[in-house]
Amino acid sequence: MIRIVGALVILLLNNPAFSHEDQADARYLGNEGILVRHGELKVLFDAFYDSSYGTYVLVNTPTRDAMMAGTPPYDGVDALIFSHVHGDHFSPKPTLAYLRAQSAVHLYGSTQVVDALLKLAGPQQAQLAVRLHAVALSPGDSAVKLGLGNIEIEAIAVPHSGGARHAAITNLLFRVDLDGFPVVMHMGDADPIDAEFARQQAFLDRKHTHTAFPPYWFLGLDRGEAILHNRIQPDQVIGIHVPEAAVGDGETWRTRAGGDLFTDPGELRDIMHSH
Ligand SMILES: [Zn+2]
Ligand SMILES: [Zn+2]
Repeated sequence: MIRIVGALVILLLNNPAFSHEDQADARYLGNEGILVRHGELKVLFDAFYDSSYGTYVLVNTPTRDAMMAGTPPYDGVDALIFSHVHGDHFSPKPTLAYLRAQSAVHLYGSTQVVDALLKLAGPQQAQLAVRLHAVALSPGDSAVKLGLGNIEIEAIAVPHSGGARHAAITNLLFRVDLDGFPVVMHMGDADPIDAEFARQQAFLDRKHTHTAFPPYWFLGLDRGEAILHNRIQPDQVIGIHVPEAAVGDGETWRTRAGGDLFTDPGELRDIMHSH
């Protein structure tokens, strides 16, 4: 009997579904929206936004409903992170509704994001404010480090792509460490300017990133690829912010980009442990 139980334990441990320790994944929601999870630790990036600008992928209704209700895999989310205030990444109304529906979730974002939420919340903002963590940074500033239990959240500001047109927008790059593995990097709408990453090299070198999620314009572009491979040096790169035109045609877009992209909402990628 003991031998049978022992064999069963070995069988379960060999089954990927039960070897939870190294099991982490990233699920694509739309545009730059991602759920990253490792066991009980879960982080949502750029998950509540209402503008497609006629080009980008919105989060579909069943997915938004599941997030709002906290049904698996969207149960027990720890942190909700926003790269910047643009409407294809963040909208105050659904974000506030989510924070009210999921009262344990903490939010991390720029002062512009937090201010928009506080303004919308109005007189009820006091109880909400303790869960809103505003990151006030400008490009070139030293990284901010925030803790949430076993999750470490760090941010730097990197200019938004498009130059002067978006100079007033604070675009944050977040490096999030879920209890040692995985460490993921969400880059918002970063501009692939080498000098901006060069002056953050100490921050980039301080901790190894397993998976980076750059906007897709970094892929197949020499200076974008150089930043990824020389400065960030992640094990895995998955491009995001891919236009809706790529839905159902991901392989064509991935081939053209010369790398991995999230194109279809619901896509799932394992995050691999490298030693
Ligand atoms: Zn933007
Ligand atoms: Zn964008």
